[in-house]
Amino acid sequence: MSTKDFLEKDYYKALDVSKGASAEEIKKSYRKLARKYHPDANKGDSASEERFKEISEAYNVLSDPKRRAEYDEARSLFGTGGARMPGGAGGQFGTFDLGDIFGSSGSGGRLGDLLGGMFGGRTTQQARPRRGADVETEASLSFSDAIDGATVSLRLTDEGPCKVCRGTGAKAGTVPKVCPTCEGTGQSSRDLGSFAFSEPCTTCRGRGLVVDDPCTVCGGSGRAMSSRTIQARIPSGVADGQRIKIKGKGAPGERGGPAGDLYVKVHVAGHPVFGRNGHNLTVTVPVTFAEAALGAEIKVPAHRGMPVTVRIPPGTPNGRTFRVRGKGVRRADATVGDLLVTVDVQVPTELTDTARNALEKFRDATAGEDPRDELLRKGRT
Ligand SMILES: [Zn+2]
Ligand SMILES: [Zn+2]
Repeated sequence: MSTKDFLEKDYYKALDVSKGASAEEIKKSYRKLARKYHPDANKGDSASEERFKEISEAYNVLSDPKRRAEYDEARSLFGTGGARMPGGAGGQFGTFDLGDIFGSSGSGGRLGDLLGGMFGGRTTQQARPRRGADVETEASLSFSDAIDGATVSLRLTDEGPCKVCRGTGAKAGTVPKVCPTCEGTGQSSRDLGSFAFSEPCTTCRGRGLVVDDPCTVCGGSGRAMSSRTIQARIPSGVADGQRIKIKGKGAPGERGGPAGDLYVKVHVAGHPVFGRNGHNLTVTVPVTFAEAALGAEIKVPAHRGMPVTVRIPPGTPNGRTFRVRGKGVRRADATVGDLLVTVDVQVPTELTDTARNALEKFRDATAGEDPRDELLRKGRT
């Protein structure tokens, strides 16, 4: 079944009923004709067989109220008895897959798309399937969700055919009609003696169709914004500012074309303790001067796990970074980044008497070593 069939075939005539026939009349006539032309009753008669097929096809459509309405609509839009399309696309129309346009009878959206496209004045290229546009959006993730991956709800806004007029631009209950000036070609030609040239029809502005009563929702443009909410899976290990491509979740395609892709820019919230450096986590831990000087085993926090023990060797300078393997962020290949621990040597601001005594003893014990010796010497040169 194709759109071409819809436009070329007169199902009412095939069933020998009037256009206003009731469902009962259609059924009755179908039974009568089907009996008469049934292949069993006409063995070897190919004309009867053809006729029988024609009757069956017609009944298939006219017995289904929804499909009958679509059929009636298609024929009232494009005229009966011929496949003349606005914009001179009649020839191309013949290549249409009819299921494409009328197959989505649930929404009627594709017919709307088709008409919406015509109203955009892009008649000829609109006849082919078109890939939907890519869509960009943003998502905010918590620090932990970015590490683990998360499913987020994204509200997307697309421009598409107006749902009220199904993209026709015509007020509810009315249909656009073929432009009387250009007879649907969208072009008007001017004859200048020996040659003629054509320009977009001024009546329909090249659309080939006109509406007497514009749709009040879209003002006759046939286009409207609609929003939808989708669930998108953000993979584990995304970083702040990263763009995630989600295939096929962009704007829907037109006339059977594939959907576009969705790009999600991810914002990752900070964490009170940890930072992220690619697939490594970072943490800064305070250590005492004694721990840095003498060496120590210190406990450092691990993200959502038990603290891990890091051995600080004697003589560790301030700002040195230690690596704890496998305590970072999981990568796509299932390997895991590291935890980078940076020590921050603390200077005590309050001292007990005992501590002060000990420090003074330490000072006296190291009195011969001036840490600025080299600096001062080099400064003189
Ligand atoms: Zn026109
Ligand atoms: Zn509308």
